[in-house]
Amino acid sequence: MDTKIQIKDRFFTPYISRDEIAAAVGRIASKMNEDLAGKNPLFLCVLNGAFVFAADLFREIKVDSEISFIRMKSYEGMHSTGEVKQVYGLQQDISGRTVVVVEDIVDTGFTIQQLLKQLNAHNPKEIKVATLLFKPESLKCDVKPDYVALEIPPAFIVGYGLDYDEQGRNLKDIYVVAED
Ligand code: 5GP
Repeated sequence: MDTKIQIKDRFFTPYISRDEIAAAVGRIASKMNEDLAGKNPLFLCVLNGAFVFAADLFREIKVDSEISFIRMKSYEGMHSTGEVKQVYGLQQDISGRTVVVVEDIVDTGFTIQQLLKQLNAHNPKEIKVATLLFKPESLKCDVKPDYVALEIPPAFIVGYGLDYDEQGRNLKDIYVVAED
């Protein structure tokens, strides 16, 4: 694995290797293959950060299933608080369906909480949340991801789809910001 790297003004050190990531993704995929058999789930990958994770996870899914892509954007209107995010890009009718939200990281939990609220308004049968990373110590909402590949302490990470100011998504391993 590479040593310290620089992205823009910050340095990052190797944190989770591609092999550890692959093993963790394989573990949750096995569990999902057991749980989701016969349900024809619709995977909803939350762009941009989850695209690498979703691509690897979905190829480990053996049950009949579909995948589509959504995005959470801050509401841009006169009454925007800057906090409220809205789901964009939902093409499918999800009523009565098993939906699996695929997220890159659950930090405070606000994003996933808002997403679940908006998806639930479309009357799905059930919604499961799969996340690559979970920072349990940062959680500020009453949400609990169903499938967590890796739990990490509260620190800023990049790589494997996650960015620092839009850079670093192409890194194969996960890096953590270095102390100044
Ligand atoms: P939450 O709403 O749970 O606080 O944050 C979720 C979103 O914040 C993630 O989907 C991700 O875009 C961003 N985020 C949270 N922690 C990190 C991190 O350590 N690194 C990166 N690159 N993004 C993060």
